[in-house]
Formats: sequence, C-alpha cells, structure tokens
Amino acid sequence: MTRPDGLQQFELECPKCGLELDEWMEQCPKCGQNLLEVYSGTYRARRARWIRAVIVFLLLAILLALVHIILPGAGL
Ligand SMILES: [Zn+2]
Repeated sequence: MTRPDGLQQFELECPKCGLELDEWMEQCPKCGQNLLEVYSGTYRARRARWIRAVIVFLLLAILLALVHIILPGAGL
C-alpha cells in the first residue's frame, strides 16, 4: 500500500495470531511468534545475509579510511 505522501507503509501480520503490526518487530508482542524467522526464511540463510551485510559495511569503512589516508583533504 502506498500513502499519499509517497512513503511505503509498513504492513505486517503475525502468521500465528493475526495481529497487525504497523512497524517491524522481530517478535510478535501478542503471542511471541518469531517474525524475523518467518519473514526471512531459515536461520542459516538469515545469518548468512547478516554476515554479508557486516562484511560490506566493513569494506566500505576500510575504503573510507584508505581515502582519508591517501587523500587527507578529500572531505568525505
Ligand atoms: Zn502473534
């Protein structure tokens, strides 16, 4: 669903108890269902994605540090 201001409205429904959430939660506040697990597949796949995100972040941080070392006046 798209709001008039163009922002994507977050809609999530607990598959276990049907509680509607308007913001992302890792766990259903009503029944305790692990929503992270339900909506992002298996634990292993989720962990792999998480690690990949951290690696990308670290590479970007290293890249920025190198830019600062090589070009101190870059102002990044
Ligand atoms: Zn629930």
